[in-house]
Amino acid sequence: MISQKIEKALNNQINEEIFSYYLYLSMQAYFEHQSLSGFANWMNLQAREEQEHAMRIFRYLIDRGGKVELEKIEKPKSDWNSPLNAFEEAYEHEQHITSKINELIDLTTEENDKATAQMLDWFVEEQVEEEATTEEIVCKLNLIGESGSGLLAIDRQLDQRELTD
Ligand code: MG
Repeated sequence: MISQKIEKALNNQINEEIFSYYLYLSMQAYFEHQSLSGFANWMNLQAREEQEHAMRIFRYLIDRGGKVELEKIEKPKSDWNSPLNAFEEAYEHEQHITSKINELIDLTTEENDKATAQMLDWFVEEQVEEEATTEEIVCKLNLIGESGSGLLAIDRQLDQRELTD
């Protein structure tokens, strides 16, 4: 069995991951409107990854005999000033998610729940990658500044992202 505190915190993390899904879907729509289909493709795959993150915790809670309780999803923003602005927010959002994962790990220590701590290890590694990839795109967007051809080059690069396991 799983403690009530951990159960509640994991349900909350499911909501965080589903909100991430929603946020990146909203960013996909923003990029579709800008006719930046490569950026939109990247956001679509990012959103789908977030849904998988939520399901990973969902499945774990069930396996541990916990109760999954889905909460209301916050409305994401639907507009950004620029592609750079959107990616800056994606990077900030990933840093927020990292802090939530760290809080969860602190809680597993308090509750002496080694299984949950081990499950969360996967997320620790994943967050290193999430922060690195979003930050890299922020850097590139800063480098190109106002260059339209630079933006299209990044768009072509982001179009190459494919679904991975
Ligand atoms: Mg995630």
